[in-house]
Amino acid sequence: MGVVPTNAFTVDGVQLGSALEMLLLAFALADRFNVIRREKARAQSDLLQVQLRLVDTLKTSEQVLEQRVAQRTDELQVLNSKLEAMSMTDGLTGIANRRRLDDVLAQEWRRAQRLGHPLVLAMLDVDWFKKYNDYYGHPAGDECLRQIARVLGSTICRTSDLVARYGGEEFVFIAPATDAASAQGMGRRVCEAVQALGLPHAMSAFGCVTVSVGVAVMTPGPGNSPEALLKSADDALYRAKEQGRNRAVFAQETP
Ligand code: GH3
Ligand code: MG
Ligand code: MG
Repeated sequence: MGVVPTNAFTVDGVQLGSALEMLLLAFALADRFNVIRREKARAQSDLLQVQLRLVDTLKTSEQVLEQRVAQRTDELQVLNSKLEAMSMTDGLTGIANRRRLDDVLAQEWRRAQRLGHPLVLAMLDVDWFKKYNDYYGHPAGDECLRQIARVLGSTICRTSDLVARYGGEEFVFIAPATDAASAQGMGRRVCEAVQALGLPHAMSAFGCVTVSVGVAVMTPGPGNSPEALLKSADDALYRAKEQGRNRAVFAQETP
């Protein structure tokens, strides 16, 4: 219509404009693509950081957990040994109880059998203890038993020996690999040591607390048994009582 001059720009203006638009759109697309790629890389690195922190946290809590488990295990072991010791200890006197005595007797019997050694067992009984309780009262009786246990522990003191409360006012000691002469000496020393405590006993012929002891020695063999050893010591104790108390009587070794 002659409004604008006719030349290459005006004639191909539409194509040129379209081409320019395409070019700009291509740039915009490339830019958009780059932006998305950068965002994706940043997100991935953030994710990696989070994962690393998570791994660190997990490792730390695992260590804390392991420490706690180890601590609890230690505590349980201490508690277990305490319980085991308690189940083997006499509550009143603090020395070995009947259960421990049975265990040690069986164990020492087997050892003596293996080695062909004699085993000494003595049974002690406090003299006129019922009268002691009646006269001085049970708390004093309990204290008397504690003192006797203490004296026994210090008189029968080789590492392989065992002193135990058999029950009531009766005690037992075991001495492995001990001959008859030493066993008799041990029984005598126990009687003397208890008398030397000097605990007054107004109802006793001796004026103080005394014990009677039956000592037996046996070498494990056919026909012998821990029960027979106990019985032999008990019989000897009975004879010690019959012979006037405050003495040790020795049971001859049975073949
Ligand atoms: P014997 O000289 O013949 O042994 O006379 P005994 O009086 O000692 O004998 P008996 O068996 O008649 O009496 C034992 C007494 O021991 C009876 C009981 O009151 C006392 N007794 C047993 N266990 C305990 C204890 O744990 N504490 C106190 N205080 N007394 C006890
Ligand atoms: Mg008794
Ligand atoms: Mg008694």
